Amino acid sequence: PKILRLILGDQLNSNHSWFKTVDPSVTYVMMEVRTETDYVWHHIQKVASFFSAMRHFADDLKQAGHQVIYIRLNDAGNLQSFQHNLDFLIDKEAFTHFDYQLPDEYRLDHLLKNYAESLLITSQVVDSDHFMSTREELGEFFKGKKTYLMESFYRYMRKKHHVLMQGDEPVNNKWNFDADNRKKLPANHKATPPFVYANDVSEIVDAIKETTIKTIGTIDAKNLIWPVTRAQALEQLAFFVRECLPLFGTYQDAMTPHEWSLYHSRLSFTMNSKMLSPLEVIKRAVQEWTDRPEEIAYNQLEGFVRQIIGWREYIRGVYWLKMPEYASANYFDHQNKLPVWYWTGKTKMNCLKYSINQSLEFAYAHHIQRLMITGNFALLAGVHPDEVDQWYLGIYIDAIEWVEITNTRGMSQFADGGTVGTKPYVSAAAYIDKMSHYCTSCYYYKAKKTGDRSCPFNSLYWNFYDKHEDKLAKNPRIGMMYNLWHKMQADTKAELLEQADYYLKHIDDL
Ligand code: FAD
Ligand code: SF4
Repeated sequence: PKILRLILGDQLNSNHSWFKTVDPSVTYVMMEVRTETDYVWHHIQKVASFFSAMRHFADDLKQAGHQVIYIRLNDAGNLQSFQHNLDFLIDKEAFTHFDYQLPDEYRLDHLLKNYAESLLITSQVVDSDHFMSTREELGEFFKGKKTYLMESFYRYMRKKHHVLMQGDEPVNNKWNFDADNRKKLPANHKATPPFVYANDVSEIVDAIKETTIKTIGTIDAKNLIWPVTRAQALEQLAFFVRECLPLFGTYQDAMTPHEWSLYHSRLSFTMNSKMLSPLEVIKRAVQEWTDRPEEIAYNQLEGFVRQIIGWREYIRGVYWLKMPEYASANYFDHQNKLPVWYWTGKTKMNCLKYSINQSLEFAYAHHIQRLMITGNFALLAGVHPDEVDQWYLGIYIDAIEWVEITNTRGMSQFADGGTVGTKPYVSAAAYIDKMSHYCTSCYYYKAKKTGDRSCPFNSLYWNFYDKHEDKLAKNPRIGMMYNLWHKMQADTKAELLEQADYYLKHIDDL
């Protein structure tokens, strides 16, 4: 037989069963194609990081003795789509069998399934050997349930993989130590500076420019900060557990204009591209905690483990359960456009200015910036979830649809009506001020609700609840807000709504 095996750009798993032996009848193919660079405006660092990591992966396979065909973006013969390149190769090289790994994206899953079925040669799809649960597992776990509580799935996963367990009981007799986490950063606290790379990706950046692919954000092509090999990814993991894990949980939700990643791991790209496996990341963190019990408190570790074995697997399970309907969910029927400054960072609102500018500069923002700054504002501003999705799918280094859309449409925009979140994540200035240092130097006044330079979050917040009372009032977690709203003086309410209306009409000028 002559076998052709496709490796997608987010399937850079060197421990995959495919690579255990070198088989002369097998040829691997990897490709950089316009169908993947153009479905959204990606951050230039995202495109460069993926392509660079793919090129290194292909080189490593060749070094190990495997046969690899690598099609570069600007290669003359590149037909710029998976199907066309595959058709050409199968025909030209007379392959007799085609293999691929389960894609993580619904679109590619269908595309490759249809493609494989249309072939005259045999084909097979295999697992990607990466996740800790199957595509269907979450659906089976919550079968017959109306709500899908992440915490229940998390406990199930801990038991299943025997992570932080003593027999059938959780370590330290408690599943969740969140109450000990999430502190504001002290005013003069200096966080450990992030460990970054200086990878030279000029050749790729030149190719992106030459082919006039539309990208967003900035890049220093000779000093790409993201890890692009497994060795670099492992080094970043080692840095995280050594330097950041001791304070990971404590400052997990903190935000400041001066630091862009604080104690976060920045490992999402390495896991989403599969250079690292979630289980090895968890094991490494547990090992560090075992080795340094005095320095790493259990709440820091548990918080980190929960993000990966809990949230990450849960989000993926919801994606496969709810797609394709999920991609058009719009519970609040929001129709507004995304403010123009999401693409430039040019706004007077400090929290948004810093969160967006660091995203354009580093292709990164941490979870609370994504959820409680950019996501919060988009929801309060009634932006259409399609617009919000396109922004998140483009701008972040780790943005792949399975994890982006479920977090954005579900958790952040509540467009699924409450599958992922039990209530919409919205807040006024008080929460942002509680968790960040953004408000003190802001053009807007955090305590002012209406009038000149009043913080837009304050009036938009009440406007949101007012507009969606029919959909939210019955939610037991929100009832209290409606009690407050109903008790307010009629003229106070009218002023808030008028202020919100004014801001919505002038949204691009905020
Ligand atoms: P850390 O804070 O160090 O957390 C460790 C790891 O836990 C992460 O690397 C990630 O793999 C996992 N994790 C934590 N929270 C989540 C979560 N909610 N869902 C899935 N995994 C999680 N994550 C992506 O990987 N890709 C996305 O496109 C993406 N889009 C998002 C959009 C919105 C609106 C929101 C609110 C969140 C999004 N997230 C996304 C989840 C989360 O914000 C990022 O995984 C995290 O910020 C990545 O940075 P980190 O590696 O430093 O994470
Ligand atoms: Fe953001 Fe309002 Fe605080 Fe300014 S005052 S940083 S706009 S929350």
